[in-house]
Amino acid sequence: MPGFEIFGDEERKQVNDVLESGVLMRYGFDGMRNNHWKAKEFETGFAHKMGVDYCQLVSNGTAALTVALVAAGIGAGDEVIMPCFTFVASFESILAIGAIPVLVDIDATLTLDPAAVAAAVTSKTRCVMPVHMCGSMANLDALQAICNKHDLLLLEDACQAIGGTYKGKALGSYGDLGCFSFDFVKTITCGEGGAVITNNKKYYTNADVYQDHGHDHIGNDRGAETHPVMGYNYRISELHAAVGLGQLGKFDTILSIQKRNYTIIRNALSTLEGITFREVPEGGEENYSFVNFFLPNEELAKKAHTAMANNGVEANFYWYTNNWHYINGWEHLRTIKTLGAVSDGIRNHLEKLNGTDFSKSDAIMGRTISSLVKIGWTEEEVKVRAEKMKAAIASVL
Ligand SMILES: *Cc1c(COP(=O)(O)O)cnc(C)c1O
Repeated sequence: MPGFEIFGDEERKQVNDVLESGVLMRYGFDGMRNNHWKAKEFETGFAHKMGVDYCQLVSNGTAALTVALVAAGIGAGDEVIMPCFTFVASFESILAIGAIPVLVDIDATLTLDPAAVAAAVTSKTRCVMPVHMCGSMANLDALQAICNKHDLLLLEDACQAIGGTYKGKALGSYGDLGCFSFDFVKTITCGEGGAVITNNKKYYTNADVYQDHGHDHIGNDRGAETHPVMGYNYRISELHAAVGLGQLGKFDTILSIQKRNYTIIRNALSTLEGITFREVPEGGEENYSFVNFFLPNEELAKKAHTAMANNGVEANFYWYTNNWHYINGWEHLRTIKTLGAVSDGIRNHLEKLNGTDFSKSDAIMGRTISSLVKIGWTEEEVKVRAEKMKAAIASVL
């Protein structure tokens, strides 16, 4: 997955364009910048690749989620339904605007269980936020139907599934808004960066204004611009955007290498009795950044994970006991450890988390192993890896 594996001359060239003009900011300084508009160029190119009308670059993926929520009018006291298996950024981005994260179960897609979402809808629910974890997607048709029924926003976190598709649409482009991260370990990296995509002009304009202190970006005199609403600073720098532009040129290559490497590993593991793979909703195609599979039970999953490590196979993740990606590891959330005060609405809701039954997700996560697919590997290296994985897993089955 990580795009940094193939960092090279293309990224250096883009960064040098910026360094030579000395304009490290994405807005203004028109005369000095030698016509380099890296952030703008990235936005146009990425919107085109994703098949949407608008893209707004921001400082990181977590900021993208926050900006997307704000752009759609979500705020204090609003409930946002999110999965219990995701990165901490999901609840961080919701809490940052005073909204309430409502955590629900996942299913064998490793993403939001539509039945759990339907059961969690209240009169305060405003948004459903599926997170397309580890390269593949939630059942978006089922989630959209729930959103339509209750008039809710569908906001896709596609940070880990860039390039995957659902029913012919790029992940992130199906819902009302989609978010991406270009942090250092993502499929495409800016060093730090993120993006919001949408076909909704109003949401785009709101995002554009909000992420830059409320600047309306009308006219050529930045100091004279007005501020239609209060904003914040979630801007990306021109330097970071330049790195991303270099990476964007390699996007298709990255995806095709991922698919080749994934296929070799998946075919090898498919021959093992007892291994099953993560469910992909009908009409979906993964981005192939991880091979995700299930062992028959928790004990065997732990043993298989250890056996692979002992056999020298790195980059396999057992999320169930990991600090960052599953509710089990989020003691700080469950015990509401914040630096400052939180609202009663948030406190009351988070206090309920400890009593919430996530046994359905436990039963899935306890058996899940995700194996990162790197793009720097040669075909030969992947074949060797696949055989080692197979032998290690077979030794515990
Ligand atoms: C990486 C990631 C984010 C956050 O992105 P940052 O750029 O690191 O802030 C959000 N959601 C998911 C699923 C991620 O993997």
